[in-house]
Amino acid sequence: MSRVHVVAVANQKGGVGKTTTTVNLAAASAETGRRTLVIDADAQANATSALGARADGPSLYDVLLGQAALTDCVVATSWPGLDVAPSSMDLVAAEMDLARRDDREFILRGALSDTVSAYDLVLIDCGPSLGLMTLNALAASDAAIAPVQCEYLALEGLTALLETIRRVQTNLHPGLQLLGVVATMYDGRTRLSQEVAAQLREHIPSTFQTIVPRSIRLSEAPSHQRSIIEYAPASRGAEAYRELAGELWDRLAALPPSTRGGAAAGVSA
Ligand code: ATP
Ligand code: MG
Repeated sequence: MSRVHVVAVANQKGGVGKTTTTVNLAAASAETGRRTLVIDADAQANATSALGARADGPSLYDVLLGQAALTDCVVATSWPGLDVAPSSMDLVAAEMDLARRDDREFILRGALSDTVSAYDLVLIDCGPSLGLMTLNALAASDAAIAPVQCEYLALEGLTALLETIRRVQTNLHPGLQLLGVVATMYDGRTRLSQEVAAQLREHIPSTFQTIVPRSIRLSEAPSHQRSIIEYAPASRGAEAYRELAGELWDRLAALPPSTRGGAAAGVSA
């Protein structure tokens, strides 16, 4: 059986392209025949709606509270090979509930272990915070990728994220890898975009070669409840996310064996 990779898409800064990257990278991955699951770990539920899933059944809230298994809340999307575990506003309440538990950072990791073997890739869309949900996502993942918008002060925002990843490595999950930083909303006509992309490459060696362009098609796709791969398959945005998926898979293949399973067993025992 092939190995499952779990990757959190995180950055505590809002509106940098986390959901756009999660949804489109997932669709591009599924297009290559990899069975892919998006876990929506954000109460805003943007990934859920962008993939046209309705959370009228159980959602991640029920899973985190132990009222449903992850398999019970997973729904298929219109794109073959791509499923989503939907979120809802209730997730805010789940986060408060988790805060009272001793194993509070490991609830999602525990919920994943039974289900994820059906997939080649699980992408977790985090909300704009470094709170308990994001910690759960990082503790459940083999690796994290961080979208960064090509704008003023982009690098400063990254410092807190890199520090959080280091803290998770020290305290929760030594095997967590920062797989890379993705430059998003790049506008080649502006000098600022060019400068930020160059600075990212200079300061963060793991920055992906692929740069996601600012594209109206990318911003339109969610309102059609389709990924860019389905909505505008020949667009520059679709090409960028296909290219990023290629880079992602190359890097995942080079990762050391997962420590996620073993550590999870230790925690739940
Ligand atoms: P949040 O922190 O609120 O979860 P986010 O980091 O998930 O936000 P997105 O929702 O992906 O960010 O993107 C923010 C906005 O920018 C959305 O309206 C999205 O459609 C738009 N957007 C994202 N990437 C691009 C792009 N490459 N080109 C044009 N618009 C984009
Ligand atoms: Mg989002």
